[in-house]
Amino acid sequence: MKISTKPFRVRAGAKVRLKQWPTKVKPFYNSAEHYQKLLATHIQELSKRQELLYANNRYSLLLIFQAMDAAGKDGAIKHVMSGVNPQGCQVFSFKHPSAEELEHDFLWRTTRCLPERGRIGIFNRSYYEEVLVVKVHPEILRGQALPEESLTDKKFWDKRYRSITDLEKHLHRNGTRVLKFFLHLSKAEQRRRFLKRLDDPARNWKFSKFDLVERGFWSEYQAAYEECLAATSTEHAPWFVVPADDKLNARLIISQIVCDALKDLQLEFPQADAKRLQELKNLRRQLAD
Ligand code: ATP
Ligand code: MG
Repeated sequence: MKISTKPFRVRAGAKVRLKQWPTKVKPFYNSAEHYQKLLATHIQELSKRQELLYANNRYSLLLIFQAMDAAGKDGAIKHVMSGVNPQGCQVFSFKHPSAEELEHDFLWRTTRCLPERGRIGIFNRSYYEEVLVVKVHPEILRGQALPEESLTDKKFWDKRYRSITDLEKHLHRNGTRVLKFFLHLSKAEQRRRFLKRLDDPARNWKFSKFDLVERGFWSEYQAAYEECLAATSTEHAPWFVVPADDKLNARLIISQIVCDALKDLQLEFPQADAKRLQELKNLRRQLAD
């Protein structure tokens, strides 16, 4: 069964009102076994297409995950990428920037981690934090040692969006396909998951008091996401708003989107030309000796 992912894609230039985007949709699976089966099919396809990506060594794929806490970024990354050759896949998590990172422009730390050709790169949080957490807490900017004229620029945030879309255009021109996932969680479901983390000793470690502080800024984050998604979803580097109240369904949607993007590259295993065929023939002869 092919999941239609169009309803989750943010059209380039469209306004975004997150209240109108569902955090839950009718599941694409009808039992736990059915979910396992569907995910396994996606993973198999993904693994096959990643091999083609690697064999061609022309394109790379960058998957960006952003979300409120407990939306399931880690689980989605773990489950969706579970069948891919670990050598073909690179995951990076971006937390508070280090002193060294703050000495550079805001795209520096992630640029160093972009996927090599033939690989799938995954960003668990990304340069988008710079227009999300930083926009919700603009005092963070004071630690970024920016020139005064940038800080007082009325178009400061628009220019940050522009830096991002320019970078993504550049990446696309050079063979990196960028897909961006916002795991859209309801506030009630976040509460349920936080309670689970508090109650279950095996999950306590996942909970930090800062998670609660940021939850207090829920509506500010939703507003920052709305502006960000509208300003940075483009034809070549689209955002997907993935309903995340049901983790399993979210994983099926994400894996379908990734499979579709790889399929769109229409890759085949490189064909040997006449010269190469001759060379292979000679090698075979030498091996027979
Ligand atoms: P988890 O909680 O599942 O382990 P996480 O991604 O939430 O994963 P945390 O260590 O809890 O990891 O949080 C990282 C924090 O770093 C987030 O609050 C995020 O907003 C913040 N952060 C990331 N990038 C930046 C940035 N460029 N500037 C300021 N804060 C940032
Ligand atoms: Mg966290």
